Amino acid sequence: MAIIEKSLQAIRKRIAQAAVNSGRVAESVRLLAVSKTWPAGALREAYAAGQTAFGESYLQEALEKITALADLPLEWHFIGPIQSNKTRPIAENFAWVHSVDRVKIAERLALARPETLPPLNICLQVNVSGEDSKSGVAPKDVAMLARVIAGLSRLKLRGLMTIPRPTDGIAQQRAQFQVLRRLLDELNAQGLGLDTLSMGMSDDLEAAIMEGATIVRVGSAIFGNRKKT
Ligand SMILES: *Cc1c(COP(=O)(O)O)cnc(C)c1O
Repeated sequence: MAIIEKSLQAIRKRIAQAAVNSGRVAESVRLLAVSKTWPAGALREAYAAGQTAFGESYLQEALEKITALADLPLEWHFIGPIQSNKTRPIAENFAWVHSVDRVKIAERLALARPETLPPLNICLQVNVSGEDSKSGVAPKDVAMLARVIAGLSRLKLRGLMTIPRPTDGIAQQRAQFQVLRRLLDELNAQGLGLDTLSMGMSDDLEAAIMEGATIVRVGSAIFGNRKKT
């Protein structure tokens, strides 16, 4: 069996096990295959093994793969930092954007989203660990940003995303994911009707699923270790 197919099976098993351990059904967690730095051929192999949703962080690289794989019914998620002069190609080529952290970016995505496409699914990126270097809105500013974005047409606010500070130990991992889950609960208590927690990667997906992740974003555990650039 090809390596990517084998890795995908192993990840699906980890997801299903973590879901069952937390009293959830496996189908309540979607797997987003993070394919940044990997060539189109690797994605084709993952598709042949049943994977249809792919996450990309670098726009130029993503657009090349979207073109090369246009013959496949893939769902593209943008998960990287967004420059405001790059919002149009993102709005035109992706089904989801996980990394929105300011109003200006959301407004530009809304204006550029073609009428011929369904609304662009949006997650707000939240900086749960309070690291200065990291992008993402501070927890205290989430509610205001969410209310503004929920009111923009051509966008559909789905939920929250985070990239926590790497920590060892499942308790520390869960503590950071719990911050995101509580924020989502608060927004829903205000009636926003959000259904998505995008959290958990190769090394911490179990902790994320225990805290309610609905999308896990997994790269290296599927495709292998990325080369350092
Ligand atoms: C690269 C990346 C991932 C995947 O990380 P792995 O540790 O390789 O699974 C997930 N989310 C984001 C935003 C990323 O940039």
